Amino acid sequence: MSRVFNFSAGPSTLPEDVLKRAQAELLDWNNCGMSPMEVGHRSHVFSEMTERCEATLRELLNIPSHYHVLFLSGGATSQFAMVPMNLLRDSGSAAYLKTGHWSKKAGDEATRYCDIHQAGQLIEENGYKRLPREDEIDCPNDMAYLYFTDNETIDGVEFKKPPICGNVPLVSDMTSNFLSRPIDVDKFGVIFASSQKNFGHAGVTVVIVRDDLVGDPLAFTPTMYNYKTHADAGSKYNTPPTYAWYFASLMFDWIKEQGGVEAMEKKSKAKINTLYHAVDHSDFYLNPVQQCSRSTLNVPFTLSDPSLDSLFIEEAKQHNLCNLKGHRSVGGMRASVYLAMTEQGVNDLVDFMIDFEKRNG
Ligand SMILES: *Cc1c(COP(=O)(O)O)cnc(C)c1O
Repeated sequence: MSRVFNFSAGPSTLPEDVLKRAQAELLDWNNCGMSPMEVGHRSHVFSEMTERCEATLRELLNIPSHYHVLFLSGGATSQFAMVPMNLLRDSGSAAYLKTGHWSKKAGDEATRYCDIHQAGQLIEENGYKRLPREDEIDCPNDMAYLYFTDNETIDGVEFKKPPICGNVPLVSDMTSNFLSRPIDVDKFGVIFASSQKNFGHAGVTVVIVRDDLVGDPLAFTPTMYNYKTHADAGSKYNTPPTYAWYFASLMFDWIKEQGGVEAMEKKSKAKINTLYHAVDHSDFYLNPVQQCSRSTLNVPFTLSDPSLDSLFIEEAKQHNLCNLKGHRSVGGMRASVYLAMTEQGVNDLVDFMIDFEKRNG
């Protein structure tokens, strides 16, 4: 067997143990004589899984009982529309922090439904990027909500703590750093994340939404875009993405076995520090983000000589280090080090980077 180290930003690498468990359960799941893919979503065996799945997630993140946990299809991108449709109510405006690719995309979608108040943006200073400081964020208290992207997957910036906004509900896209650290759910109105970065393959999106924000959507909201539809139906209003939901439950079990989100945070920091250390202790590699705003999951970096980019990517691949090419909008390289990436993978990458620099620097 020759599995590679997959540094893709998503769909991304999965733990071998979880893949093996899925393999073992593929033909006969819980003695039902069917694979999880073939089982009805209202069957006993499936409902047992979904109940346990939600309970485990609630335990991992300490989610209070006045929050719904929804398992939806449509990806994180559907939330860019669902959030304004469900949270705007009588308000004509919402505040957005534009800190990179994904928050810009979310804000652009919201302009179809309301006015956008720019509450702050990614700042460029001395050639480095950073997130706005607390005193640079401006969120008037008549906004329907304040939207931000906790970890900008492409730009490599991550909030160390959520922005403060008084009584305005906070909405956070945590797709690329979900379950990588403990969070205080009580501070948020809505948290959402799609599965293919940190808890599975593509197909299911977790939405954690406070009770009082559910049930009064804009009049034209399609039934499937109304949070209440899914809250009332236990996320089974229509056929849910059954296998992705099942796979997410395996991932939540795995995270729990690893020691929960506290352990994930510790491991993530150790892995990422090794990588940043390698980048910072070399003039050959550059990271464009100020220390205070750096992501714990996605590390964009460039070579001081971009003509070596394709050689770097090609040779890395020969060392089983795959999908290191940067996003087409920023170029260079990007290493995504999600929960399932092993320390061995990061160490191999760093060894390769040092060797590559020796031969080409
Ligand atoms: C990948 C990603 C998205 C898009 O997710 P889809 O499930 O493909 O819609 C949105 N936000 C962030 C932060 C992401 O990393």
